[in-house]
Amino acid sequence: MTTLRKTPLEDWIQRRIGLESGAPLTLAALARHQLAALRKSLIHAAGSSPFYRRRFAGRPGFPPEDLQGFAALPFTSMADLAADPFDFLAVSQSAVARVVTLRSSGTTGPPKRLFFSTADLERTVDFFYHGMSTLVGPGQRVLILMPGEQPGSVGQLLVEGLGRLGAAGMVHGPVLDLGAAVDAVLTHRPDCLVGIPVQVLAMARHPRGARIPRGLVRSVLLSTDYVPEAIVEALEEAWGCRVFEHYGMTEMGYGGGVACEARDGYHLREADIFVEVVDPETGLGVPDGVSGEVVFTTLALSAMPLIRYRTGDLARFLPEPCPCGSLLRRLGKIAGRRANGAAIGQSIRLTMSALDEALFTLPGVIDFHAELVPGEGPPGLRLTVQCAPGGDELDGSDIRGALARLPAVRDALGRGLLAIEPVRLGTGKEASTGAAKRIIVDRRQEGAAP
Ligand SMILES: [Zn+2]
Repeated sequence: MTTLRKTPLEDWIQRRIGLESGAPLTLAALARHQLAALRKSLIHAAGSSPFYRRRFAGRPGFPPEDLQGFAALPFTSMADLAADPFDFLAVSQSAVARVVTLRSSGTTGPPKRLFFSTADLERTVDFFYHGMSTLVGPGQRVLILMPGEQPGSVGQLLVEGLGRLGAAGMVHGPVLDLGAAVDAVLTHRPDCLVGIPVQVLAMARHPRGARIPRGLVRSVLLSTDYVPEAIVEALEEAWGCRVFEHYGMTEMGYGGGVACEARDGYHLREADIFVEVVDPETGLGVPDGVSGEVVFTTLALSAMPLIRYRTGDLARFLPEPCPCGSLLRRLGKIAGRRANGAAIGQSIRLTMSALDEALFTLPGVIDFHAELVPGEGPPGLRLTVQCAPGGDELDGSDIRGALARLPAVRDALGRGLLAIEPVRLGTGKEASTGAAKRIIVDRRQEGAAP
């Protein structure tokens, strides 16, 4: 039996929270640190960010003494942040080292702007340094399929973090041309790839992807979106690599947590963020093991502290101790987004993550779009499926077969609540941008189908 290496985040967090060397990290010490850091972050936010100054001014018992009091504070929503990003700025504009503009796809709302100071970016580099040491060691090479042109971009911060552990990061950027991305792997021969799930899958399933020898890429870190299990399995089978997952949002300072060698859930940056899981309807905390919406509070961000920020991501804390032996808790795999499903009838919910698991299992599928459209009878599920050029021949019946095996689809079809429209097949000559959130587009209220 091989022993799993303990997550490197544990020793890092022990140092970060200022425990004397040799003093063991305990959950009680971590909890004490987090409560003190929460109070400090609340005082900073209420003192310096106009939004939180208005929100918390004159609030009795502020800042709260305990987590119970903290859990009574109102949430911050994505809409709050999008409405006026400058309202959240807690340092002078001259102290801002990096501005990130996030456009949400499919909406006409204003873009979100996020601000980071030099110290904020430094903490992210430190997280990348320790987090990446789960996957790579000194002398190894990492090809980064993420944006990295600008100073302070995620790619640049990763290169810096990797440099501290003696590894070389090379920024390729997001995959725009699949053939070119495969060629970059063949040229640079990286030990590790960091990328967006559907893009890395499309590389593996691209005809040129077969030229990447098995065993060359030893590990892959998938980030940015929730990660379908079918993609993990397809990559491990194609390349003989180990796939790790990272969970983070730009709002957290890019990084949030990373899997350990147990590869089941994520250990979190607990010295930098405080994570809660709440019932999406009531907003009340749920016990470990129960799924809910992930909510986080930044403990150390200076430019744009966020208090109880609702991510829209669904996950649970895993109640079992981690097989890696760390006492750090684990947030389970992100199971999708609150907004990525659609109700069919009274009791059936069709989710994008279920469609992902069904369709990415089919060899040759590299991406798809799903829409619910009005029909003569029940609404139709319309799929446009992108297949790898020159890959396995797929036809509509393979896809219908895979769909019909999904309990939600089978149930909806059986009860006459859904019809499956003829599947549109395309050849994915280009990779998905990966930037668009993977959602089922609901057009049922839009009138007759075009
Ligand atoms: Zn672990």
